[in-house]
Amino acid sequence: MLRYKSQPDWIDRSPNGWSGLIQSQMVANPDLAEDREADYLIVGGGLAGLEAAAHLVEVDPSASIVLCESYIIGENSAGKNSGFMIELPHNLQASNYAGQFERDKRMTRIKKRAIEFIDANIAAYGLRPGILQRQGKFNAAATAGSVRKVIEYTRYLESLGEDCRILNGGEIQSALGIDFYQKAVYTPNTALLQPAEYVRTLANALGRLDNILICENTRLKALVRDPDCFVASVGDHFVKARKIILANNGGIEKLGIFEGRLIHMMTYSSLTAPLDTEQSAHFDNYDDWGVIPAHPLGTTVRKLSGDTTGGQTRILIRNTFKVGRKDSSRGRVLERLRHRHRRSFEQRFGDRLDTPFEYTWGGQLCLTSNGSPIVKELERDLYMAVCCNGLGTINSTLAGHCVADLASETGRHDELAEELICCGQPDDIDFRPISDAILNCKLMLGQHHAGREL
Ligand SMILES: Cc1cc2nc3c(=O)[nH]c(=O)nc-3n(C[C@H](O)[C@H](O)[C@H](O)COP(=O)(O)OP(=O)(O)OC[C@H]3O[C@@H](n4cnc5c(N)ncnc54)[C@H](O)[C@@H]3O)c2cc1C
Repeated sequence: MLRYKSQPDWIDRSPNGWSGLIQSQMVANPDLAEDREADYLIVGGGLAGLEAAAHLVEVDPSASIVLCESYIIGENSAGKNSGFMIELPHNLQASNYAGQFERDKRMTRIKKRAIEFIDANIAAYGLRPGILQRQGKFNAAATAGSVRKVIEYTRYLESLGEDCRILNGGEIQSALGIDFYQKAVYTPNTALLQPAEYVRTLANALGRLDNILICENTRLKALVRDPDCFVASVGDHFVKARKIILANNGGIEKLGIFEGRLIHMMTYSSLTAPLDTEQSAHFDNYDDWGVIPAHPLGTTVRKLSGDTTGGQTRILIRNTFKVGRKDSSRGRVLERLRHRHRRSFEQRFGDRLDTPFEYTWGGQLCLTSNGSPIVKELERDLYMAVCCNGLGTINSTLAGHCVADLASETGRHDELAEELICCGQPDDIDFRPISDAILNCKLMLGQHHAGREL
């Protein structure tokens, strides 16, 4: 008899700026109040789980669905990320984001579909259209070494036939309103998301459908196979389900699946308070923008305004990767991070802005050795869409969509399925925890080498 028991997982409760912007909508669904029967039980209310639910509604409209989330949708990583939906090669392990040519070409075509899936959900459920802005991104260099990377990356994108435009310092200043960067490549098709608003309002809309029950603060604790269904211990009750979809990202390891094969990481963000009238006036002539650092371990920046921030102007900063899983709301972690974010902020805006940070938070990522999300049928009727590999706005959306096709047996054997559905498992990672410590040292060194990019 198949049996999985889930160890309790920690939850990062650091205060998320994105959910802070939509506080009035951040009302969690109640936990599971009674035993239920359903066609599908989806575990995890992140991008993968919600996309799986939204797509199941389309391909299997009469099915009943229970989705359980151990914390609050919008306060999880899916709601805490920086919102860059990067449809282009973005290999975090390469010095210039480039990967293998043929695979990158196929994956770029596929990744563009993730943006379409989110667009379609926004339209279908009447969510605020500005949640997803197709305004492109700047991949920008602040040092001579990184300028080389930008040029290499631009050539690579051109060889793939992707739309991109190289900008020099003056042109960047005209686009962003700051004079920090020397060279950038602008890629117009990258989309920028308000992540918490997307997952929260999508969950609210899905939860209003008759055939979906969404329960939050409700953890899958154990899973047992009955002859023709699964019995899941969920919160304080049981769900009998025909099929299970695990969309719980790195939490899968707590079920004893892929044990020792996943790399858990944390990364961190800060969001300023609203800029005062005089300071925000400087940005009045600039559209909102998003900058990815040319050095993969550098600092990501977004300028936000308009409907996203209730008409105020704010700046988002993200940097620092750490191996391991640690609740960043504990101890002095956030204080140290806020200090580091402040340095990055002052380097970019110091002479112009002195606005303090209102929020600093951390969230988790789950990486595998092959760098792809894992979509597969683990056992009969037990499916998974996990391991975001740090780029879940795209990867997990694709994984969730694909797993819904797989589980509903709608027979879609398209390019998405061919590329995503895998038969194997991530490679074992030897010599834990020494390998984690080595990776942490490499990250620290890399971040040090990132210099002004950080
Ligand atoms: C600060 C930060 C910035 C980032 N920036 C970007 C970015 O710009 N672009 C990008 O693409 N990605 C970014 N990411 C990564 C992105 O957030 C993740 O890749 C994405 O959230 C993964 O989505 P997911 O649905 O696979 O997993 P998650 O968002 O982790 O969702 C999984 C859910 O499963 C739940 N769960 C786990 N175990 C159980 C259980 N036993 N029972 C019930 N529920 C369970 C968890 O609580 C969680 O809510 C960033 C992440 C962080 C933290």
